[in-house]
Amino acid sequence: MIKAVRGTRDILPPASAVWNHVERIAREVFRSYNFGEIRTPIFEATELFARGVGEETDIVSKEMYTWEDRARAQSEKTQSLTLRPENTAGVVRAAIEHNLFESGQLQKLYYIGPQFRRERPQKGRYRQFSQIGAEVIGPPSSGSESPLRDAEILEMLATLLDELGITGWTLELNSVGSAADRAKYNETLRAALVPVVSQMCADCQRRAVTNPLRVLDCKIPADQPIIDTLPVIADSLDEASRTHFAVVTASLDAAGVPYTLNHRLVRGLDYYTRTTFEFTHGGLGAQNALLGGGRYDGLSEVLGGPRAPGIGFAMGEDRLVLTLLAALDQKAAAQQKAEAFIAPLGESLNAAALVLARELRHQGLWIELGEGSFRLKKSFEAADKTAHHIVILGEDELKSGILTVKNFSTGIQTKVPRAELAVFLAEPPRE
Ligand code: ATP
Ligand code: MG
Repeated sequence: MIKAVRGTRDILPPASAVWNHVERIAREVFRSYNFGEIRTPIFEATELFARGVGEETDIVSKEMYTWEDRARAQSEKTQSLTLRPENTAGVVRAAIEHNLFESGQLQKLYYIGPQFRRERPQKGRYRQFSQIGAEVIGPPSSGSESPLRDAEILEMLATLLDELGITGWTLELNSVGSAADRAKYNETLRAALVPVVSQMCADCQRRAVTNPLRVLDCKIPADQPIIDTLPVIADSLDEASRTHFAVVTASLDAAGVPYTLNHRLVRGLDYYTRTTFEFTHGGLGAQNALLGGGRYDGLSEVLGGPRAPGIGFAMGEDRLVLTLLAALDQKAAAQQKAEAFIAPLGESLNAAALVLARELRHQGLWIELGEGSFRLKKSFEAADKTAHHIVILGEDELKSGILTVKNFSTGIQTKVPRAELAVFLAEPPRE
């Protein structure tokens, strides 16, 4: 038997209803903050991620699905392609390619879609997973550098989680400063690591040389007490970055969005500058990050574009759904039931049943259409599983226009004129 590949999943009803619910709420919230949707390709030139995410990151160094796409004609070149492991690089590439920054306007773009990383599959961690993300980016004259943009994004995320009914989240916040601040901090860290790094894990020994900042990402328990003694990035920030961050936190205070400061939050991607953040949730276990993001003021230039500071985030949709599923499961399953199951009494009534189903569906009802060759008992069983009511359509009902309807939750059987059927079936109204 052929099975789904390790780390990939099939999403079936009723769980798929929870996915649709999450996406619907996300789209509504994005619209109220005046974001538009962008859909970029699922694969891109490998070079985009090597440059846009950073060679030294876990994503690029070990998690990408990359292949040589062979030339099929003389005019084509063999090219290295990669399934997108994240969507920010693709969005910024598209914005540059379509000259979106030339308008001088702030670009506010969101996306929903699959991402691919070759990771060890476990709860909340898959090889194909879905992210819901957004980016706010534009030339400096559009106000893209303002700390108000950071605060607005964070306030929007708090709103989105609230709208989804996810409670008990924590917003962790940090600033990694400008590119120059980071370079300075990297040197401070490099020096501080010299006397201790020999006691650390192999990854940290390598990072201490190539990119000391990444040491702060280390998850190895034995390394944690050593990392706690290292200098913090806040002490390496210049005046402008300090002020920027102070305005972000003051705006969050004003809006009543709670946060905690986390000096170690440098995030997995190389392009972050200034504000970095993560929303975590205790109910998720080891993979507790619901979403992560931050400011990336230099990314457009790294990808060959004009100067276009920006800030964005990516939420793990799989983890949002995991958080919601337990609570929503029953409700979603109930909502999956159609309003009525139409049971034709005999195959000669199949066409008339199709007409009745069409009539009711056009009036906005969810209808399951049965099959006239079923015995009545079998129709009742099928109806009880899939719908709130059964509507029986025999020769008498067709001629008189009075239908027999049974409500499964009350057990009551009623005669209803065809013209009143839609209103009758819609009671009590759906949520
Ligand atoms: P983690 O520390 O969990 O590996 P990350 O830093 O790699 O996260 P990002 O690249 O910032 O994560 O992605 C943003 C969000 O996407 C994460 O907070 C998480 O919710 C989700 N995510 C990342 N990788 C996966 C995965 N393999 N499976 C499911 N969700 C994921
Ligand atoms: Mg990761």
